[in-house]
Amino acid sequence: MSETFTSVSQEEAGLRDRVRLSFDLDADICVIGAGLAGLTVALEAARLGASVAVLEGRHIGWNASGNQLGTVMPGFALPLTDLIERIGLEDARELWTLSKQGAEFVRANASEESMPGMGLSDGVLEVSNVDAGDRLISQLQMLNEDFDTEVEGWQVDRVREALKTDHYFHGVYYPKAFQVDGRKYVHGLAALARRAGARIFEDTPVVSIDHSGIRKRIVTPSARLRASHIVLAGNIHLGAPSKRLSETLLPVWRYAGVTAPLGERLHEIVAFKGSVMDSDGVDHFRVVDGDRLMWESPETTWAARPQRFAGAIKRRIRTIFPELGNVEITDIFGGATGQTVHGMPQIGQLRKGLWVASGFGRQGMNTSAMAGQMIARSILWGDERWKLFSPFELVWAGGATGRVAGQVVGIWGRASSAAAGALARYRERARVKDRQREARLAEANRAAGTGPRRAPPGVRPRPAPPPKAAVGAAEPVVHEDRVSQ
Ligand SMILES: Cc1cc2nc3c(=O)[nH]c(=O)nc-3n(C[C@H](O)[C@H](O)[C@H](O)COP(=O)(O)OP(=O)(O)OC[C@H]3O[C@@H](n4cnc5c(N)ncnc54)[C@H](O)[C@@H]3O)c2cc1C
Repeated sequence: MSETFTSVSQEEAGLRDRVRLSFDLDADICVIGAGLAGLTVALEAARLGASVAVLEGRHIGWNASGNQLGTVMPGFALPLTDLIERIGLEDARELWTLSKQGAEFVRANASEESMPGMGLSDGVLEVSNVDAGDRLISQLQMLNEDFDTEVEGWQVDRVREALKTDHYFHGVYYPKAFQVDGRKYVHGLAALARRAGARIFEDTPVVSIDHSGIRKRIVTPSARLRASHIVLAGNIHLGAPSKRLSETLLPVWRYAGVTAPLGERLHEIVAFKGSVMDSDGVDHFRVVDGDRLMWESPETTWAARPQRFAGAIKRRIRTIFPELGNVEITDIFGGATGQTVHGMPQIGQLRKGLWVASGFGRQGMNTSAMAGQMIARSILWGDERWKLFSPFELVWAGGATGRVAGQVVGIWGRASSAAAGALARYRERARVKDRQREARLAEANRAAGTGPRRAPPGVRPRPAPPPKAAVGAAEPVVHEDRVSQ
């Protein structure tokens, strides 16, 4: 989908050895789709000794998997509190642990030894668009105590030291979350899977499957394949092999741009080194290549050329960091993510030997890794933990109406986030003005020699009492000389 691959070479993009399936083949496992999900299943299953064939309709990482920011965090697109509400604390905890294992799987793969040049760096900051200190404290407690996840709460001042903007208030810092080169990782995954013995065929769309027998049949335009297991990892583009499955995903296209080099001033304004995302899911960015900003923002529920969104990305950057001025976007890319109605990925066995791994939404790095590992281990070892995902069934995403509704909800979400942010900043300015007014009043009182003693920090000073003379105006004035008379 990307028009420019400045940081991914032809070789890395898998364009050099594209092999199409042109002969009939037998395998233990056939994976449909060479994105993050399909390639993780292939890698893990091949490592465990299975014969694996991956069939990819275009090329490796063609869609979202090869056009993303590479931020890796624990958790799911569904907020943790909603997850607990839906399935209870115990199961939520188990799913969260699996999601952390998914992140660790990525970390182990992206090490300098096995995937050189992935640029792995630690630390992700989630910032709040509104002043939500209380919510932050309970979130930190829950993550630390109930979900065994290392997090730090950042006060507004600390956030604003790291990011020069008044748009963000508190922050939650995840020291163990990390980022890799998102556009390269999927190609590294393909290289590892090949090394483990998996065969990957590109330009090989699957046009139909017959999953009724023990040996299942997979049909492509130029050859057939027989396998004991089929893994559907085609995301929103799966199409003919399982139209009903495709209809359970709401496609959401996301776009990101990279600025021209911005020089030293960038580090004065964006001092934080890792990925930053806001809690409303509107912006997601980080510094790349030393002094460029990679920024993900707009989304649509229809396919569009990413280039159309360069202006929107520039405007977002200027809104959040006005001091950066009018930046130039030199590289722009995007891809379609599949969103489920319940916000959780689709992972599991649909019928004997037919598996699904899709619906990873905007948080696909750790969740697709988790799904790939779990499915491979279930096929080869009988690991049944995927059943934890059973409460999240395949739900129809509403077809064309669902897309329109999705776009409206997206626009509404962004608008209400902007409004809540504006209100929070207004309140903050009002508080600052209040403090200034009180300080001026106290100063005036001090000058009149009548001011109250300074109030301890955090205690609002009471207004100064009126001067004594005025209070006592109605009382008899007692003159000392007369008393002594
Ligand atoms: C701009 C952007 C930024 C993002 N940033 C992040 C991030 O920082 N962190 C994060 O965790 N997630 C991020 N994501 C989300 C993440 O990229 C996705 O969740 C993930 O890539 C989905 O992987 P997938 O394998 O399910 O799907 P895909 O990448 O869509 O792969 C599916 C593949 O299947 C193939 N296919 C489909 N049907 C067939 C068929 N019938 N026959 C053969 N092949 C078929 C397709 O051609 C495609 O290559 C981002 C997404 C975008 C768009």
